[in-house]
Amino acid sequence: MRRLMIAGNWKMNAASDTTAAWLDAVVAVNAPERDLVVCPPFPYLGQVVAGLEQSQLQVGAQNCASEDGGAYTGEVSVAMLADVGCQYVIVGHSERRALYAESNELVLAKTRRVLTAGLKAIVCVGETLSERQAGHAEQVVGQQLSLLLSELNTTEWQAVIIAYEPVWAIGTGETATPEQAQAVHHFIRSQLAARDVGLAEATQILYGGSVKADNARELFSQPDIDGGLVGGASLDADQFLKICTA
Ligand code: PGA
Repeated sequence: MRRLMIAGNWKMNAASDTTAAWLDAVVAVNAPERDLVVCPPFPYLGQVVAGLEQSQLQVGAQNCASEDGGAYTGEVSVAMLADVGCQYVIVGHSERRALYAESNELVLAKTRRVLTAGLKAIVCVGETLSERQAGHAEQVVGQQLSLLLSELNTTEWQAVIIAYEPVWAIGTGETATPEQAQAVHHFIRSQLAARDVGLAEATQILYGGSVKADNARELFSQPDIDGGLVGGASLDADQFLKICTA
């Protein structure tokens, strides 16, 4: 049986005082059968790791460098993220693909770095509105997955989580219906199964895109949806707690 995972993605939203208040509110969360993760911006990782020492919640980063270290001004390596206590890294979020031109090749390179360092990668895929309207959602998602499927070995895949995030549902308040999401999750799992049935059974596939306290339960009850990657609603400690236990 796959565990349900809820990961909060704060994006570029945080300050020391609001982070402290958020930590106080969520530290005692109790959902032992679930994997719970929060991904704050880099400067707050230390504060969040320290604040969650006694908590079930684990910590992830929102991005990492594709290089190991050295003369890459402004970049943050996976070794640094591991050193400060991160256990997860989000890779290939649609905002990074769209705004920072991250290609499937770069997403693979970053994923490799994450896995080599012994961390888990939450790799994001998803189609835009025009791609969906043109009937190409599965084709786009399939392309985003294909390098990972051909290049990563089965052991590496054990530390990969896929997040399906339709771009048209991110931050828009428009959520994919449970049926729409389930259909793409099922497609993703079938792509994994074509590579290895055991892998398909074991891999957690999260849904992201306007997950809220009032739609989480229905989404998470779909057979191929194993939790959520939550943006806006994760900033609100109350909402996040409700989603974590939905
Ligand atoms: P949202 O963002 O929940 O605010 O739609 C999700 C994400 O981008 O991970």
